[in-house]
Amino acid sequence: MQTSNTFLYSAAATRRLLANATRTIQIREFFYVVWVWVKGQRPTFISKRRYKTEFVASRQRAARALQVISQHHGYFGIVYTVTSSQPAQPAYQVEVAGTHIACTCEDWANQIDRFGKAVCKHGYATLQHLGHETLAAYLNR
Ligand SMILES: [Zn+2]
Repeated sequence: MQTSNTFLYSAAATRRLLANATRTIQIREFFYVVWVWVKGQRPTFISKRRYKTEFVASRQRAARALQVISQHHGYFGIVYTVTSSQPAQPAYQVEVAGTHIACTCEDWANQIDRFGKAVCKHGYATLQHLGHETLAAYLNR
């Protein structure tokens, strides 16, 4: 089972940080850093701060390929329907109510389980639709 740390310091996140999509990767978590070994290369360390920055940045980048296609009043706030330009991708419902942003996707549920708070790429797409790049910018509007 994934813990909050294996969710943050994952092989997928390491591949994004190192722009290395195919090689075998081993990772070991230390207090401030993650030890990374890519097959055929010398081991290196990556700071946990870089993983946390990439965790948000990767979702903000992915959000730019999404569109908010409709909105309606939901039970708690405004519900935005967010979809990608690829027809096979499902649409997700993002509800914005005050300082709370909820989504129907698995990533949002996983983040809530592990961190107690969450913004997924659909949430960032909705924030961008509302004119804010980050959750902090939205909360401080
Ligand atoms: Zn989502």
